[in-house]
Amino acid sequence: MYIHEAIYDIDDLVHENLHIHTEFSTCANREMTIDNILEAAKKTQLKMIALTDHHHPPKVGIIDRTEEWFKNRKKRKNNEPVTYLEKVEFLRSKLEGQELPFKVLVGAELSSYDIGKFSDTDEENAALDYRLYSCNHYHLKYWVQPEDRSLNSYVNRCFENIEALLKAKRADCIAHPFDGRYLMKRIEDDLGEDVCKFSAAIKDEQIAKAMELSKLSQTAWELNIPVVLRDPDFHRRFFNIGREIGVVFNIGMDAHKLVAIDSAAHADELKKILL
Ligand SMILES: [Zn+2]
Ligand SMILES: [Zn+2]
Repeated sequence: MYIHEAIYDIDDLVHENLHIHTEFSTCANREMTIDNILEAAKKTQLKMIALTDHHHPPKVGIIDRTEEWFKNRKKRKNNEPVTYLEKVEFLRSKLEGQELPFKVLVGAELSSYDIGKFSDTDEENAALDYRLYSCNHYHLKYWVQPEDRSLNSYVNRCFENIEALLKAKRADCIAHPFDGRYLMKRIEDDLGEDVCKFSAAIKDEQIAKAMELSKLSQTAWELNIPVVLRDPDFHRRFFNIGREIGVVFNIGMDAHKLVAIDSAAHADELKKILL
């Protein structure tokens, strides 16, 4: 598990990028090999990065497509399914013996796909340095939707999901907590083209209550830079409520390509939006 102290100085916060997808994630560019990610990070002032590939429930299976990994898989005699733990071992073996000017956390973007339902086993959870959970990947087929497909019921569902996750004490951070983009196809009558309508429907008290709970479970909230840039009004509110309550924010670029490794490139935009 990983948590740092509460930091509200943006210049300090952007020394981390705790949300990077490798080529294991099918949504990431092929250029996102471990070696390329490390080379790109060496050219920045980053002090800490986290590798966070998607983790889906067992019925969906792990999604992997690394060339080197496939070669290793072919060596398996009895065609046993590959486990996520083996993948974690593979990532660690790639990092072994490397002299790097920053720390690398081997993590995952885990799925809290229904209230109190998590994609990972306790053993997998314990094997990770950084447990970043998505609570709102509503665009995925397996994600459980509320029965009533209205804006308000999705707002309530988001908080029910986050609160169950916090109480389960298995998360280091919550990824892109209130990104309305994943709801576009679910409640398009309410949102239309404006995904910020989702976060605008969230009340300060709801955020504050969940944030109080996050202090007890020592869970951070992600400042997901692409989402912050898309929805500045909400994130100014979100950041300032968090600062008042004293929660921990982690920076994540949700990097799917090498140019998105460096969080510091957005420091000035973040300051204008959040402060
Ligand atoms: Zn995500
Ligand atoms: Zn992601």
